[in-house]
Amino acid sequence: MPTEPVPDEPTTIPRERAERIARAHACVRCREYTYRRVVVKPSTASLQEALGEVWHALLVCGVCGTTQELGIDADGDVVYVG
Ligand SMILES: [Zn+2]
Repeated sequence: MPTEPVPDEPTTIPRERAERIARAHACVRCREYTYRRVVVKPSTASLQEALGEVWHALLVCGVCGTTQELGIDADGDVVYVG
């Protein structure tokens, strides 16, 4: 598995774990887990401050095509779904 540079905080979960957490989240519309596209990016400073998220995931459902966003915090908890 590829090694990513670790974000500032040593306690932050790695990107690949954030991606697994994102994929384990059911689609908000159809409740399926089949994603056509999953992109996990480091959160912006403002979102990190406002919501506590360190990873920002963009998911495109492979069943209904809904695009949803997830915020994932340093412990791997989903802090919001949008
Ligand atoms: Zn869906």
